[in-house]
Amino acid sequence: MKLVNQSLLRTQAFINGDWCLAASHRTFAVENPATGEHIAQVACLEASDARRAIQAAAAAQGPWAQITAKERSYLLRRWFDLVMKHQTDLAHILTAEQGKPFAEAKAEVAYGASYIEWFAEEAKRINGDIIPPSSSNQRITVFKQPVGVVAAITPWNFPNAMLARKLAPALAAGCSVVAKPAAETPLSALALAYLAQEAGIPAGVINIVTSSDAPAIGAEFTSNPTVRKISFTGSTAVGKLLIQQCAADVKRITLELGGNAPFIVFEDADLDAAVAGAMASKFRNAGQTCVCANRFYIQRDIYQAFTTKLIAAMRELRVGNGMDSGVSIGPLISHKAIQKAQSLVDDAIAKGAQRAYQSPLTVTAGHFYPPTLLTHVPTDAALAEQEIFGPVAALIPFDDERDAIALANNSVYGLAAYCYTRDRQRIKRVGDELQVGMLGMNTGLISNEMAPFGGIKQSGWGREGSSYGIDDYVNIKYINEFF
Ligand code: ADP
Repeated sequence: MKLVNQSLLRTQAFINGDWCLAASHRTFAVENPATGEHIAQVACLEASDARRAIQAAAAAQGPWAQITAKERSYLLRRWFDLVMKHQTDLAHILTAEQGKPFAEAKAEVAYGASYIEWFAEEAKRINGDIIPPSSSNQRITVFKQPVGVVAAITPWNFPNAMLARKLAPALAAGCSVVAKPAAETPLSALALAYLAQEAGIPAGVINIVTSSDAPAIGAEFTSNPTVRKISFTGSTAVGKLLIQQCAADVKRITLELGGNAPFIVFEDADLDAAVAGAMASKFRNAGQTCVCANRFYIQRDIYQAFTTKLIAAMRELRVGNGMDSGVSIGPLISHKAIQKAQSLVDDAIAKGAQRAYQSPLTVTAGHFYPPTLLTHVPTDAALAEQEIFGPVAALIPFDDERDAIALANNSVYGLAAYCYTRDRQRIKRVGDELQVGMLGMNTGLISNEMAPFGGIKQSGWGREGSSYGIDDYVNIKYINEFF
């Protein structure tokens, strides 16, 4: 991989400010999902290495919490500046290990950086409270203190931004972090850590534990009493396991888990806007985001018109290597992901769905799956219940608003939803009733650093971003003082 700054390509783990191998000297391979090419051999850490990282984080945390909020803010801001300065190189690394189109990779780097910028600002505003007491010689003071050492576990679909979104609030609050990136995409995490060090963030405040043995590292993170909080983004299955593991010493835990986003289009919607929103929400990152539209509910009167316009828009999609110009859909992360998408499509068709469109696929190597549109999908199809995590759009007709809301809420997940309508009364009703953490009303995009990202039901606990995003990294302490 040719970068402007070759130092950004790191293959060793990062502990206490040092780049290091596993004690065992084991490594694992990282591959380009668009070509199958080998990109790097990365240090494969074990539980004992993770323990060393946790000790380093614990030693660094006190001094980090003791410098002023203004100093932490300054260092985070310098880190933000460096990330943006190296945006192109970071995007190259991201596309190489993850596959998304280069323009999307650049956007992800800027999106991740926006959390660093945001929390550089928030660092200075972690205010407490003075509460009016019940007697005149009393004072009630509320403080916010850092939770301590945070362990972060991040997925491969946004390897840069998901980590930045955890590191930035943790550091702003005065916590130190041990982070385990997904084995598919460790290079983006290592590059971010390199830039944090360049920015002057002290040794031990950020540690990156690369490993292909996630259960071993997860077990160490959750069982080690020095770790006071886990922040996890990934599947609901692993999230449930981490909750169980955290029960032993009652660790705090933030979870951004799976979703099954409904995308509802009412007959009074602006159809062109709805199609544009559907394309953005469904096909970004080849459908591999937890807030991707998973189930399209289209009111029967406009079902055919919407389908025709969506097919026209899908004809413009270009599948290929994310580094090639004009490509809008990259590969899926693995062959297993292709098999999953295919089995969900097969199941829906066996139950009566129709394949209304499928993009041509000219690439031969890599893990590619063609964007596919299924219409008349029955509500008992597996893909109406499960996260597809691929470029498959499933259209389901509905008759009235009550049906749409009931169908949308019929899920164990509650992350994101999207709704298109021009009726202000309906906007209020649907907004009140949908059981989700985030709702895009006449937009297919919902994620930005100013807003609280997170879900309800089996989609998780806690919020990332916004002024609420700091809450998960602080403990509240109150002092009851008598004079
Ligand atoms: P996905 O199916 O999207 O890969 P996962 O939940 O498996 O989602 O992965 C998200 C993150 O969780 C990755 O960093 C992965 O390595 C990690 N992970 C997977 N299994 C475990 C586990 N048992 N304990 C801790 N982390 C895990």
